Amino acid sequence: MRGAVIHAPGDIRFETLDDPKILHPTDAIIRTAVTCVCGSDLWPYRGLEPTGEPHPMGHEYVGFVEETGSEVTSVKPGQFVVGSSATSDNTCTNCRNGFQSNCLHREFMSACQADYVRIPNAQGTLVATDEVPEEKFWPALLTVSDVMGTGWWAADAAEVKPGSTAVVVGDGAVGLCGVIAAKEKGAERIIAMSRHESRQKLATEFGATDIVTERGEEGVARIKELTGEIGADSVLECVGTAQAMQQALRSARPGGNVGFVGVPHDVAVDGQELFFSHVGLRGGPAPVRRYLPDLIDHVLTGAIDPGKVFDLALSLDQVAEGYKAMDERRATKTLLTP
Ligand SMILES: [Zn+2]
Repeated sequence: MRGAVIHAPGDIRFETLDDPKILHPTDAIIRTAVTCVCGSDLWPYRGLEPTGEPHPMGHEYVGFVEETGSEVTSVKPGQFVVGSSATSDNTCTNCRNGFQSNCLHREFMSACQADYVRIPNAQGTLVATDEVPEEKFWPALLTVSDVMGTGWWAADAAEVKPGSTAVVVGDGAVGLCGVIAAKEKGAERIIAMSRHESRQKLATEFGATDIVTERGEEGVARIKELTGEIGADSVLECVGTAQAMQQALRSARPGGNVGFVGVPHDVAVDGQELFFSHVGLRGGPAPVRRYLPDLIDHVLTGAIDPGKVFDLALSLDQVAEGYKAMDERRATKTLLTP
């Protein structure tokens, strides 16, 4: 089979690789239906995370079950499945507490921009749809496995409630999915912080009621202005930089909550400031598995269409161009079809 391999910053190659095999009785092999490039794949691509030895890339997938290990009974060959980048047995204490992304047997996916993928913990990780969904749903189901699940978690962690005001920091795919989640959870006012016209448009289509283009302290001042000088009930931090985190914490009202889902890079939180702010803070890798059945249902009933975050569609062998387009901000998110 073939798949994407990173050799160095800026150097993604589509190469012939060994076909994945069942290594443990709890594994499954899937044939990729669609996969994509994630904003977080840009960290190593831009040299902001070390690459080390050349290694395969990609952690988002939906596909068809090809083969299952002897202990996998929940899915069968031929079924269409959605999973998560953090695999989970769905039975341990952390899983039962709803934090499957902290499963005691967790393995992170890392080679999904490929024709075939091995899924560890397949029994607990994969959710099969009742029948093979129409192809038009595949991009949205793919987002459910990662960015939409993460946006949902951001809204959940920020405790978005009906009638509340939510701020979304970040207009990448996760931020845009955060807008969808805030809307579905009943937020009355959704303020999206975005400087890009096309993303502002999509945020508005997804349910944003206000757009704030300012950043940093100016952005915080604008949020205060829009919320009676108090701040927002919920803030979804979907970037992971120091500036975004500070903006999020200072945009929340006393007693409000920040859900942070951007993988932090050089983020430090001032203990004194957090203490006196009365702001609740929760984040981490999204427990996507907890939300999968519900979000799959949201997509297949047409309630949400997060597939719209893909603004570039390429064939899998053009994966290098997908990275380049996202790095140069010509695309928000690249869909890849084998
Ligand atoms: Zn577990």
